[in-house]
Amino acid sequence: MRIGKFLDVVEAPGIIGTAMLALGTTPVPHIVTPDDHTAHWLLPRDAANRRPWPWARISRYVKVRTSVTEFGVPGTDLTDGPGPHWVYPDGWDGGHVADEWLVEDLAVCTLGHLGPPAQRCELCPNPLWPEDGVRVVRSRSPLRTLPGNTIRVHPHCARRRGLKPRPGGAQLRAAR
Ligand SMILES: [Zn+2]
Repeated sequence: MRIGKFLDVVEAPGIIGTAMLALGTTPVPHIVTPDDHTAHWLLPRDAANRRPWPWARISRYVKVRTSVTEFGVPGTDLTDGPGPHWVYPDGWDGGHVADEWLVEDLAVCTLGHLGPPAQRCELCPNPLWPEDGVRVVRSRSPLRTLPGNTIRVHPHCARRRGLKPRPGGAQLRAAR
């Protein structure tokens, strides 16, 4: 099976595969690779790009691999063994390929088992991870600055705009 032409591969730590089975709302199976404790789902090529932000905000935990030209997809009847094999959920719908909504359940499972999702940086489209943000004052009105009128952004995004992080931002980071 060619990955990269028709299919992408979603890769997550093995615990997420287990958590998805326990959650029980994803009707497609995944591939378990015991050697490196990973779980993989197949996605139609570019499906994740139809919902870019939901995928980006868990991209620390879940990778969508689009450049894997050959990915060893085991035979669909291979459900056990030391090598890569399929794990079928209760309520399997008969298919082997997920869709872009897979990200909803992945978000639930990564939050529960790995950590919080990224937030939006208010200055760029890239995910902002909880420990990375700084708070800067940035009034949305050019005429006045309201107290507490701050936004959370990447440090490098703040620097690029000449915005100084507020001291409180550092305390916030230390508190986490
Ligand atoms: Zn940014």
